[in-house]
Amino acid sequence: MATEMSAFLRKKIESFSVKPVVYDYGTVSRVGDGVARVVGLPGRRYGELLQFEGGAFGMAIDLEEDGAGAVLLNTGNAVSVGSRVHGTGHVCDVPVGESLIGRVVDPIGRALDGADIESDTYYPVERPAPDLVSRRAVDTPLMTGMISIDSLVPIGRGQRELIIGDRQTGKTTVALDAILNQKGKDVICIYCAVGQKASTVSAVLDTLRANGAMAYSIVVAATASDSPAMQYLSPYAACAIGEYFMERGRDVLVVYDDLSKHAVAYRAMSLLLRRSPGREAYPGDIFYLHSRLLERAACLSRERGGGTLTALPIIETKGGNISAYIPTNVISITDGQIYLESELFHNGVRPAVNTGLSVSRVGRAAQPQAMRKVSSSLRIELAQYREMAVFSRFGSDLDASTRKMLESGERLTILLTQGKNELYSLAEQTALLFLFKNGGFDGVSPKQMRLAAAEMLMKLHVMCPDTLEEIDRTGDLSDEAKRALLECIGA
Ligand code: ATP
Ligand code: MG
Repeated sequence: MATEMSAFLRKKIESFSVKPVVYDYGTVSRVGDGVARVVGLPGRRYGELLQFEGGAFGMAIDLEEDGAGAVLLNTGNAVSVGSRVHGTGHVCDVPVGESLIGRVVDPIGRALDGADIESDTYYPVERPAPDLVSRRAVDTPLMTGMISIDSLVPIGRGQRELIIGDRQTGKTTVALDAILNQKGKDVICIYCAVGQKASTVSAVLDTLRANGAMAYSIVVAATASDSPAMQYLSPYAACAIGEYFMERGRDVLVVYDDLSKHAVAYRAMSLLLRRSPGREAYPGDIFYLHSRLLERAACLSRERGGGTLTALPIIETKGGNISAYIPTNVISITDGQIYLESELFHNGVRPAVNTGLSVSRVGRAAQPQAMRKVSSSLRIELAQYREMAVFSRFGSDLDASTRKMLESGERLTILLTQGKNELYSLAEQTALLFLFKNGGFDGVSPKQMRLAAAEMLMKLHVMCPDTLEEIDRTGDLSDEAKRALLECIGA
């Protein structure tokens, strides 16, 4: 027994080693306004998640030789001078996967609508954009259901199209309608709210729920009451959640509502971290803030699964000034913009798309054949109408042809308006534009135009449902379909 004991002890002693336990921590030297300075804590990574004594989390975004500057993610917990800080060894990440569909989460993946998110896959919120060889040209349309957008500024899957306009010009509505129109089209939609009022976000949620869109949508929200750091993370988190689906060959639509508030949150963070302010007090890397986000929108090559991530960033302008700092930055990164104008909006032209200033640089290639056939001359017609309308204000006696053109332009403008959440299929849009071109609405007074368009659609659905179905199925407007449509209106 004694020998057994001693053998056991000897073995223990032999295998015993005295290793120092390395315990890496830093100390908070200054804290306030949602940022903390930490001294010590060597070897941290940029963007690493830090854990403070007491459970608060922060993100290291300024690394220095003797410490780090961190932004606090949850401000509720008390962080005091002298408290200890540990690195967690990993950068900020979010849960991703199918289980997120239909859910509302915050930028670090905590559920905002009840039960915890169940997922064992995590993606870092900051990820490199797909490289050149893994991309292909945009070739599939992403129909928004809004006739003025699908005909004049078509969007393709994988494109980045900016929605820009003053406050209360229907920006959010346009983006939401685009999401609602994806019903049954196998597109995962992500609505990312940055710095908005909680009541606005909840209204958005209601709209999505009421229209059955939550079955294929995810909402990522950092409201105005969240810390600037959370608001800063929100779009990146939404993008990472979208990338999971894109990498699996799916089509994704992400709405960033809005990037102006995102830039403001980042400015607040940077100023508090005492980074030097540049133009409009934004830090020097403000361009990179949005370019690295929007570059992650992509149309992947077939070898990479062919998934796409379409981005619809929103920017709010002040007094219609699209040449301010942040708007020009984002305009230069995106593949076009939908410019919404206050004046049009108040005149009842909704969506208030300014067709002269809105462009889509890659969407034309993806536009369905049918739409291309009926929309080719629309832009010119509208431009001529606008020019003529300005002149007609000066003179009262107009000749007959000018008056005819003005009336037609007015009718066309009204044809391009649509109520909120009132969406048209490709066939409906094509048929309306085709019939407009071929005299289907001649003689209708502009006041009656909306009613006439609605009646026309009803008539088409009753009289030639097969033709509409064919246009939707083939994406083309055949000669036979043209004939059938004309027959419907008795032309
Ligand atoms: P904010 O600057 O506050 O974010 P916004 O530009 O996102 O505003 P919305 O919230 O989309 O604008 O719309 C402003 C108001 O206009 C809302 O009350 C909305 O219901 C209404 N609206 C938007 N589009 C239409 C439309 N096509 N038809 C009728 N009403 C509309
Ligand atoms: Mg809005």
